[in-house]
Amino acid sequence: MEKHYSGGCQCGAVLFEVDVNLDQSITCNCSRCQPLGVVLAFAPRDKFILHNGAENLTEYRFNKREIAHLFCKICGIQSFSYGQMPDGTKIAAINVNTLKDVKPSELSPTHFDGRSI
Ligand SMILES: [Zn+2]
Repeated sequence: MEKHYSGGCQCGAVLFEVDVNLDQSITCNCSRCQPLGVVLAFAPRDKFILHNGAENLTEYRFNKREIAHLFCKICGIQSFSYGQMPDGTKIAAINVNTLKDVKPSELSPTHFDGRSI
C-alpha cells in the first residue's frame, strides 16, 4: 500500500517527502546498488517532493546514463535517484534505508538481477 514518508541524507542537508509502496521494494546486484547496499522502491516523480538540499546534490551517471544518481556532497549519502520507466514515465527511485520510521529489515524486497542487463 502506498504511504507517506519523509527521508533524507545523513547530515540533514537533503530532505524529501514521498508517497511510495514499500511492499514492492527491491535489492539489486548491479555495479552501483550492490556496493551501496540500497533497498529501492519506486514512486512517480509527482509523488516525490524535494524540500531541501537541491544545491547540495551531486549527480552521477553510468552505463546508459539514463538514471541520475543524486548524492549529498556533504555527507555522501544517496537517498534517491531520478529515472524513467520504459514507457517514459518519470520516477524517483527511493533508497528505503534513508526513510524515517521505516525498518528495512522488516521489508521483503525482491531481488533484481541488474548485473545481467
Ligand atoms: Zn548530507
